[in-house]
Amino acid sequence: MFDIHCSRQSTARHVFCGIWGTAAYLLVLGRMDETCEMKYKVVDSPLGKLEISGCERGLHGIKLHGGKTPDTGPAEAAAPAEQLGGSGAVLEPLLQCVAWLDAYFREPAVLEGLPVPALHHPIFQKESFTRQVLWKLLTLVKFGETVSYQQLAALAGNPRAARAVGGAMRSNPIPILIPCHRVVCSSGAMGNYSGGVGVKEWLLAHEGRPAGKAARGGGSRATGSWRGALGSTASSQPAGRD
Ligand SMILES: [Zn+2]
Repeated sequence: MFDIHCSRQSTARHVFCGIWGTAAYLLVLGRMDETCEMKYKVVDSPLGKLEISGCERGLHGIKLHGGKTPDTGPAEAAAPAEQLGGSGAVLEPLLQCVAWLDAYFREPAVLEGLPVPALHHPIFQKESFTRQVLWKLLTLVKFGETVSYQQLAALAGNPRAARAVGGAMRSNPIPILIPCHRVVCSSGAMGNYSGGVGVKEWLLAHEGRPAGKAARGGGSRATGSWRGALGSTASSQPAGRD
């Protein structure tokens, strides 16, 4: 579900080097800055273990390991962030992500002032409708808000692409940070969630939105702290709702 494309590419290149010898290896060295040396970090959360992955250029993914039923109320959400693995230097994007998640679960009021880590999953490295959808969701739909699949499609520039928005949500490599849990049906129904509907319900309740409440548009506030997360090629223009 959360592929780590870069590490696979890296492996493939090493195999390639072995076959083609020194000349190819030099060519690979010349492109070394374009590969990703992946680091991982596991943190505890009210939803169980979360595995964060990334390279020095940015975050690649958040994976919900599950294993814990999210039955504790938001008031009991405080769980110390914990580093369980990882050796060597911890990368800045991972540290920023840990701090962000810690605030999300424990002190959401400070979220707006926190930096959002740069994102470097391959899905963010080329222009696509999915990338646009995820970017709009990240920048426009804030804590405590929801948006319908259709509204998000419109925000991303194609009001008739609600179904494709569902596909983009399933492709989201960075759940929670990119809040696909805030995307619900225009009828007010919860809709799907790759981490399980129970997790989606918990996250929305944590944000103060009881299940079944009708969706409304994402806010039009665009705070500076969110900008730049996708790099200079990303559009950061807030779009109208309709
Ligand atoms: Zn990377």
